[in-house]
Amino acid sequence: MDIQIFWDRGAPQGLEIPVARTISQILDIPVQIFTNPLLYNGFTISRQQFDATAILACVDTYKRRNNLEGPLLLVINDDIFRPASRYIFGLARPRTGSAVVSAARLKNEFWDLPSDESALCDRIVTEGTHEIGHLLGLEHCANERCVMANPRCLDDLDHKKPWLCDECQARLQSACSVSAR
Ligand SMILES: [Zn+2]
Ligand SMILES: [Zn+2]
Repeated sequence: MDIQIFWDRGAPQGLEIPVARTISQILDIPVQIFTNPLLYNGFTISRQQFDATAILACVDTYKRRNNLEGPLLLVINDDIFRPASRYIFGLARPRTGSAVVSAARLKNEFWDLPSDESALCDRIVTEGTHEIGHLLGLEHCANERCVMANPRCLDDLDHKKPWLCDECQARLQSACSVSAR
């Protein structure tokens, strides 16, 4: 079961291939990358952000209409939130296999720091792998270096390594062997 990534035109260009390749290496699963073909809504005027749950509903609809099965991650540039949080880096809906990651707050510029493309690439990899991990059945991990740790801020995210701890690795292998049966 391959993973599909839809890379929106607004998302940082030039990072698609390295991001897809690294996520594939970490999870040891083939990753296909496409220019995002779907339109999403969910812009919330009062917050000037997109509601990530509305975006996932759009991804779900697209998947259903096009008979897409398997995990799908949408990478966008719009800032996203979930009701009850000020902002989120990404959101996954394991039930339908849909996930979204926003690059907005993964950019140094957002936090008034000098631009750093390699840090941005690492963060999209870490956050993207995390959300896909949820789609593959992984939950949050207490190991703060593990990709499945739950980051509260950019510093937490940067503290993670592009790596699954032994326990998450074992869980992933058993989850994948069950679904392959
Ligand atoms: Zn999570
Ligand atoms: Zn872990």
